[in-house]
Amino acid sequence: MKKHNFYAGPAILPKSVIKQAAKGALNFNDSGLSVLEISHRTPDFDEVINSAQDLIKELYQLPDNYHVLFTTGGASSQFFMIPMNLLNQDETAYYINTGTWSTKAIAEAQRYGNLIELASSADQKFNYLPKFKVPSKGKYVHITSNNTIYGTQFHHFPKGDIPYVCDMSSDFLSRPIDVEQYGLIYAGAQKNLGPAGVTVVIVRDDMLGKVQRDIPTLLNYETFVKKNSMFNTPPVFPIYLSMLTLKWIKEKGGVEKIERMNKSKAKLLYKELDTNPLFKANIVNKRHRSLMNVTFDMTNASLKDAFLAEAEANGIVGIKGHRSVGGFRASIYNAMPRSSVKVLTELMSDFTKRKG
Ligand SMILES: *Cc1c(COP(=O)(O)O)cnc(C)c1O
Repeated sequence: MKKHNFYAGPAILPKSVIKQAAKGALNFNDSGLSVLEISHRTPDFDEVINSAQDLIKELYQLPDNYHVLFTTGGASSQFFMIPMNLLNQDETAYYINTGTWSTKAIAEAQRYGNLIELASSADQKFNYLPKFKVPSKGKYVHITSNNTIYGTQFHHFPKGDIPYVCDMSSDFLSRPIDVEQYGLIYAGAQKNLGPAGVTVVIVRDDMLGKVQRDIPTLLNYETFVKKNSMFNTPPVFPIYLSMLTLKWIKEKGGVEKIERMNKSKAKLLYKELDTNPLFKANIVNKRHRSLMNVTFDMTNASLKDAFLAEAEANGIVGIKGHRSVGGFRASIYNAMPRSSVKVLTELMSDFTKRKG
């Protein structure tokens, strides 16, 4: 049976990418060797990592003063690498707290400087986006552009004099961005780009080299810049797969086209949630709703198990909500086809006709 993969992460990748990766795992570039068993110091792998970087630069139209790095340790390691590299102990960084991930980022960053929680939506279980103004002084404002667990997403970033540092793990390359607003962008690959194991960091040159503390070599962004992310062995297969996804995004027409597709998918699903009496979206304010992770619940709790069972029977997987929120969550990342979203909305509407 065809599966419709709504997992939040690791998550769906384009079928064509999986196929190419499977081929590369057997015979990479007709070398007679697997991409898994060649040195990362070969021209063949150089081409992989360089085209991955070039494609990110091209898709986001990054100016030359931005570096694209590939790190390990997940997005979670960026929670400490960022303040370690960017913030002196006596300097101030601002954090917007919109969920579990930003809460963790704050906890780590507190070790490295003066933190101010600029705004928070913790008072209402993170089911909305707090308003804030960018302060005129300070090192950076940390923001989580898309809150994977709660289903909120910033669609507007107030302009200001200090740069954003942005966790884009779950909406990386899902829409165009105004690059100049960001001093640093990071994203764990496994939501919207590739498999787990690699994290992309985009950092503006002037953010680096300004802290006094002694940073271990492999935790220092400057090492990644100088060594083209290959001071040590990089996660070759995740980088290879990410490169294939980047090519796929380019073939689809780039981030503008991807955004249009993402909007169309999200519209379909939210419309069903807003009109079907058995279902309701968790995020009430339409301007705060995520185009990537759609969280919802049922108005009749006693029907939840039956709906979940029917979903499974129809090949719909991964729609159980995060354990901290409950209910349901449909993750509809870049690679999710509209046809799969349609299968879900049709089941919802059919289910309501029979049981509502
Ligand atoms: C998944 C996720 C993370 C954590 O990523 P890891 O790679 O598992 O460390 C951080 N931030 C956001 C927004 C996420 O969705």
